[in-house]
Amino acid sequence: MGFAKKEYEFLSEIGIEASNPGCFVNGVWKGNGAVVSSLNPSSNQTIAQVSEGSLDDYEEGMQACSEATKIWMQIPAPKRGEIVRQIGDALRGKLQQLGRLVSLEMGKILPEGIGEVQEIIDMCDFAVGLSRQLNGSIIPSERPNHMMLEMWNPLGIVGVITAFNFPCAVLGWNACLALVCGNCVVWKGAPTTPLITIAMTKLVAEVLEKNNLPTAIFTVFCGGSEIGQAISKDTRIPLVSFTGSSKVGLMVQQTVNQRYGKCLLELSGNNAIIVMDDADIQLAVRSVLFAAVGTAGQRCTTCRRLILHESIYQSFLEQLLQVYKQVKIGDPLEKGTLLGPLHTAGSREGFKKGIDIIKSQGGKILTGGSVIESEGNFVQPTIVEISSDAGVVKEELFAPVLYVMKFKTLKEAIDINNSVPQGLSSSIFTNKPEIIFKWIGPNGSDCGIVNVNIPTNGAEIGGAFGGEKATGGGREAGSDSWKQYMRRATCTINYGHELPLAQGINFG
Ligand code: NAD
Repeated sequence: MGFAKKEYEFLSEIGIEASNPGCFVNGVWKGNGAVVSSLNPSSNQTIAQVSEGSLDDYEEGMQACSEATKIWMQIPAPKRGEIVRQIGDALRGKLQQLGRLVSLEMGKILPEGIGEVQEIIDMCDFAVGLSRQLNGSIIPSERPNHMMLEMWNPLGIVGVITAFNFPCAVLGWNACLALVCGNCVVWKGAPTTPLITIAMTKLVAEVLEKNNLPTAIFTVFCGGSEIGQAISKDTRIPLVSFTGSSKVGLMVQQTVNQRYGKCLLELSGNNAIIVMDDADIQLAVRSVLFAAVGTAGQRCTTCRRLILHESIYQSFLEQLLQVYKQVKIGDPLEKGTLLGPLHTAGSREGFKKGIDIIKSQGGKILTGGSVIESEGNFVQPTIVEISSDAGVVKEELFAPVLYVMKFKTLKEAIDINNSVPQGLSSSIFTNKPEIIFKWIGPNGSDCGIVNVNIPTNGAEIGGAFGGEKATGGGREAGSDSWKQYMRRATCTINYGHELPLAQGINFG
């Protein structure tokens, strides 16, 4: 059976058919669970079908994966890095097709789809270098003829549960590090982006096969909460890295903690941009546009709150409303489109309900506020004038809705920035060093990402990515995030023949 539309035929170049088994279990593709349709968010028509994993598939996959850990963790780290290097190269070869699939299935515009795949390539490069730098340390011992050192060992299996909005980059942040650190990976992608899960897995599997390695090193299930819960409960998985909403993340954390497992959480954001009276206004307007409208407001780092100094409030808004008028809405694969559809019909309903709540809480719609009548999930980019105290402002509405509010003093602006439960990303626009250093210091932004003169979104992989409070506290990608994928052994070695005790204790 072929694809319903000719424009989907490029998918066969990355291993996708009209109908696909959705689990990669011990080197075999299968799926004994429900058959689901992957829908095009621009039309809500089926792109292809996928059979999800059953709990039996899960068990079979986990058994093979547990066996594979014994082999993978024995391979020297730089050799594991070489495998990740090959994965990066394979991604380079399919960058355009994979980026196109991200855009088609998730709904983000093509340059962002390609950018998402590029992010994994960058992560591969980072991880290859890291594979020769998983350094421990030597610590001076207080005892004669003793030595203390720290060793970093693999955990075994890392479970990765990802969200729909970054259907493959988040896998990349986790898997590249987990693999060079000596762990096998068990991945469950979002239930509405199964084709990206399958295409990514085929590419990784090919590299493992070519190198005669057990393919169960990378075990994958398409599916929903049932598989997610199985991963959370599974004592064979010491670390579960979860990306998604704060609500589901909290449930996952509780389940994992109950079995003394570790969790790495990347949850909801509610990000603000502050514009000071001395700011470069043009730079700030362009940044707000990208941060609030990019990915149709469906990034964890999307700017949802714009906090403007009262002296520039009116003129800034006028300029922003002007650029909002020029935003081209349409097919995300078409050149020039800036705003694609929301991911699902459910998200579009969520937008509608959100607008009703905003109005009921005194929000004044300055532009947008409606869904666009079409077969797809398109909505208008929206700006709302509202009090920072309104309940709705404290929540993450996953759509292109920007709340604007006014401030007089820096302290007031920082208080508003910090007044929400989430703590992911934040930005200030100013040229004054004293403001910059207050903003990034202890009394400044309480977020994990604290930017100056750039948008809240579009992070580079070199830094550790993640947020505080209801965003979950996790850090992924660059810097020393790798340490979370390893087990630290503190070793004290006595190379003498006496037994001096620490703290000078004399025991008989
Ligand atoms: P979601 O919480 O609905 O789903 C995320 C994943 O959890 C999916 O794979 C889903 O199938 C799975 N899941 C659902 N119920 C589960 C359960 N009971 N146990 C285990 N897994 C379960 O989130 P979403 O709608 O896919 O994604 C949007 C959310 O993700 C937003 O809140 C966004 O801010 C957040 N997000 C955060 C980051 C970050 O880095 N902080 C990045 C991307 C997305």
